[in-house]
Amino acid sequence: MLQVLIVEDSPTVLKVMDYLLRQSTKFQPVYAATLAEVEILLEDSSDQFFAAIVDINLPDAPDGQAVDYIRQCDIPTIVLTGRFNEVQREQMLANGVVDYVEKESRFSYEYAIGLLAKLSRNQTMKLMVVDDSSSARLFVKGILRTHLYSVILAESAEQALELLKDHSDLTLMIVDYTMPGMDGCQLVKTIRQNNAYDDLLIIGLSAGEQSLSARFIKAGANDFLKKPFYHEELHCRVMHNIEQRELLIAVRNMANQDYLTGLDNRRYFFDQAQPLYNSACKQQKLISVAMIDIDHFKQVNDTYGHAVGDEVLKSVSGELKRTFSRFIAARMGGEEFCVFMVGLEESKAFRLLDGFRELVSDLGVPTEQGELFVTISCGLSMLPGQSLDGMLQQADENLYRAKEAGRNLVVSD
Ligand code: GH3
Ligand code: MG
Ligand code: MG
Repeated sequence: MLQVLIVEDSPTVLKVMDYLLRQSTKFQPVYAATLAEVEILLEDSSDQFFAAIVDINLPDAPDGQAVDYIRQCDIPTIVLTGRFNEVQREQMLANGVVDYVEKESRFSYEYAIGLLAKLSRNQTMKLMVVDDSSSARLFVKGILRTHLYSVILAESAEQALELLKDHSDLTLMIVDYTMPGMDGCQLVKTIRQNNAYDDLLIIGLSAGEQSLSARFIKAGANDFLKKPFYHEELHCRVMHNIEQRELLIAVRNMANQDYLTGLDNRRYFFDQAQPLYNSACKQQKLISVAMIDIDHFKQVNDTYGHAVGDEVLKSVSGELKRTFSRFIAARMGGEEFCVFMVGLEESKAFRLLDGFRELVSDLGVPTEQGELFVTISCGLSMLPGQSLDGMLQQADENLYRAKEAGRNLVVSD
């Protein structure tokens, strides 16, 4: 759990915040009601706090002194205020507070706590700033750092391309237009040859010319921002684009994965396995297809109920994912799974599958009536010269033979 410092003197606000924070499994609140209490808390261990939510007006610090004190300790700070003041807001944001939130309703507190979650997510994200002006680079970096993103800098398009090779985990790039050598739009075009629109986000920065923003978008940028911009504008653009990407990834996962087990679904299995099958055939590599089915699963449902049945499916799937992480493993429907493997000798494929069968038979699923054990039957096919469908059919026939022969068995061609 991450410790967050909540500085607030109003009992009503505290009650709401405490209620909201107690629903989170991620944050552990530590409360203070005055600047004096804050000073004691931070005296020798300020690094225990991940972030702070701080009321501007406290009995012994009526004008944001607690905010200044906490900022000096380098703790990311979200400011709460009962009286909105535009000048103060701009000043605080310029001084590096994460956000300035007006206390209007419980939604304000939800928003502030939502920001904590975003900050912790941001820590895992790497962003790159590409600008030839060092002051512009550092300005943007400073803004991004207040929201805890990790930031790398490039002073030219060429350097950005070089850095990109070592940072394939980059989430987003902020690219200036005017640079000596390759300009921002050319850089975006070059990057887009290898990076999909939703894999690596790009925001173009343009000053002056009206048409630049459109050119950035046409070159493949996700968004653009006109210089000069206000720090909050940059935050909003960055956050908005990252959230859109997360939504897209969620939708993609929903379409490709089975909701219960998180395994690839039948359709996605074919999407992935068919091209691999084609190229493996061309390169004359060994292909193995296995069909796996839980034995007497209907009895599990009938005896223990559907919910326990679901738990069994989940734990078998978890093992399947681990055992066959190098290959494609999918839930084909019901209690039936399929594995597609390339490059294994028949004896090796058989042993891997038989090892998995044994693993499942030892896998106790906890139920109210004690641990429950299930077994699986597997059919393995490695006959070359058929279609993927043909191999699946053959694996299915072998599975049927395993069932006939008494279950808890692997049968191959
Ligand atoms: P066999 O050893 O011959 O495979 O027998 P079986 O009972 O495992 O096979 P059968 O096809 O008769 O039954 C499969 C059962 O799986 C029936 C169905 O209700 C259950 N099932 C399918 N999908 C789910 C699911 O998502 N959750 C649960 N709990 N049960 C499911
Ligand atoms: Mg079954
Ligand atoms: Mg079945």
